[in-house]
Amino acid sequence: MKKRYVVTVDGPAGSGKSTVSRMLASGLSYVYLDTGALYRALALKVSVAGLDADDRVGIAALCSATDIALFECEGATRILLDGRDVTELIRTPEISMLASTVSALPEVRQRLLAVQREAARSGGIVAEGRDMGTVVFPGADVKFFLTAGPEERSRRRWLELRARGHEVSLDEVLRDVVRRDRQDSERVIAPLRPSEDGVLVDSTGKTIDEVVQEMLGAVRGKASKAL
Ligand code: C5P
Repeated sequence: MKKRYVVTVDGPAGSGKSTVSRMLASGLSYVYLDTGALYRALALKVSVAGLDADDRVGIAALCSATDIALFECEGATRILLDGRDVTELIRTPEISMLASTVSALPEVRQRLLAVQREAARSGGIVAEGRDMGTVVFPGADVKFFLTAGPEERSRRRWLELRARGHEVSLDEVLRDVVRRDRQDSERVIAPLRPSEDGVLVDSTGKTIDEVVQEMLGAVRGKASKAL
């Protein structure tokens, strides 16, 4: 594959986006961009600053005075917030929910748009999030929308949180996942929805490898047609 594509992967919480996007990027020798981590980092800053999630003026001011950078280290994305490594701190249930709330604000989305587009400037990227194919990269070469049933997505999220030492019940995770999906899908700006020109991939009952192979096949199929 000569041309270095922009590949987007959108989908709801727990759909397996992060795992398969990272594997897809590795299979294509592309860069992996975790845009959820950017929203999570801003949410952490809002939380540490003690701002209310609906304080638009305060959050807008905070956004413009924030430096966020992502870098790869030993096969994982690490995130720097104003120079401090916050990779572990942004993966809590509280920050997940706050990220979903503050990400509905136009000032927050605008602030992160430039960071995301800059990362994809030279192509060769798998960008993962909620609005990659619809808003951030509408001209992307291949767009995926990854989904799975809410029970399966909650179970995956629950296993992930437990592995990180968070004591939460499966019921609580299911409630949070459903609430976050609703919030992400119903917001006015950049709502979570499949792009009309995208490929829908349902991962329910499939192994990670099966899903990645399906997606790799779609990208390579596009490349071979372009020859
Ligand atoms: O993907 P992840 O669960 O890390 O994202 C956290 C939250 O950030 C999502 O629930 C969503 O509200 C927001 N987000 C977004 N747009 C993106 C990526 C994430 O609004 N491109």
